Amino acid sequence: MSNPPTTLRARAWVEVRLDRLRANTLTALSALGADARLVPMVKAEAYGLGLEAVSLALRDFPREGDPWAFGVAAVSEGLRLRDSGWDGRVIVFSPTPSGEYRSAGEAGLTLCLSDLNAVRRLASVARDLGHRIPFHLEIDTGMGRSGFPWRDVVLWGAEVVGTMGDQLFWEATFTHFHSADEPDLASTDRQWERWCEAVSRLPALEPRPVEYVANSAVTLRRGGYGCALARPGIFLYGGRAGAGTEPATVASVRAKLVLIRRAEAGDTVGYGATWTAKGDEVWGTLAIGYGDGIPRALSPGGGQVIVRGHRVPIIGRVSMDMITIDLTTAPDAEEGDIATLIGLDGAEEITVDEVAARCGTISYEILTGLTSRLPRVYLDGELEVAFASNNTIYRAARNSGALVLGLPETDDID
Ligand SMILES: *Cc1c(COP(=O)(O)O)cnc(C)c1O
Repeated sequence: MSNPPTTLRARAWVEVRLDRLRANTLTALSALGADARLVPMVKAEAYGLGLEAVSLALRDFPREGDPWAFGVAAVSEGLRLRDSGWDGRVIVFSPTPSGEYRSAGEAGLTLCLSDLNAVRRLASVARDLGHRIPFHLEIDTGMGRSGFPWRDVVLWGAEVVGTMGDQLFWEATFTHFHSADEPDLASTDRQWERWCEAVSRLPALEPRPVEYVANSAVTLRRGGYGCALARPGIFLYGGRAGAGTEPATVASVRAKLVLIRRAEAGDTVGYGATWTAKGDEVWGTLAIGYGDGIPRALSPGGGQVIVRGHRVPIIGRVSMDMITIDLTTAPDAEEGDIATLIGLDGAEEITVDEVAARCGTISYEILTGLTSRLPRVYLDGELEVAFASNNTIYRAARNSGALVLGLPETDDID
């Protein structure tokens, strides 16, 4: 194990509440049928929070042997799950570049296939490896980016079965919704109807492939349409999934207040000098910027941070490494205070959806945009259980709660 960082909370960091991640997981499960199981989506660093820590926290949760699988987008992400000791199913949902079929097959990752070429290619990998390989088949019901077209099932269904031969095992069939987080679910229900029509025309197979469809929004708002599996992502990580059930906040982004200065009328802040003091003001400098993933668009969007329980505005442009805030209304602020840009601070909260709305984007982009310069600190309630820096996860040795994540011991740090 390489040297752990010694300065986790020196500058800026992300706190991830694993107990809240689990609470959201239970909420998602409870929206589904009694026997339904989850495929938590952990692509893109588990939406920025850390692939290893999140998948470790969801292993054998809530029951032994859960989850049914983990969902990723890239073969490299699946290989990291294997390195972390997960030997259950890993489903790679995005179409896989042809050069990666072999390594996916060798690592036992399950690929999702969208055309006959992919079926042929995987069958040939199975022949080379000398064993049957399972796959999932995607049906495109309106997303338009991957999947066999829902309309001509009779054209490709039998051909898939013929091409897969004895080499492949058609384990599951799925589709993906394009607007399930919109207020109006009419187009989602239409996609569901297309799906039902398509699967009714698939060749009969024994055993019948598992059918599953739901992202977070369809899990919560349509009970996953009664399917046996669902694959939520954003809701687990504290992002809203359309109208209805609110998630528990999981991630908090913090930064140190490193300077406090007094400004007079006419003084300006930041690149482009877009903010000018109207009179005597108190300005603070935070050690975080767009180089950490705080969008530059947050400032013109009216961004705020929490300092000592006060919501105060971001002023001037967000720069790469610094953000200036107006502390005039927070006279008790001191150098060394911790500011919260996203998440919980006592009774105050800035949700990731609020930040996304101010930046004209979605919570997904904010979370996945948090860069590796921010160490991730993992908490179970108030107890620090682990931390990650530069894609290496360490256990917080001082706390026996670290055993929750089953990580090897490391030296004490803070
Ligand atoms: C990302 C993804 C999901 C999860 O979607 P959320 O909106 O984050 O719940 C589910 N299925 C597929 C195929 C995905 O790519």
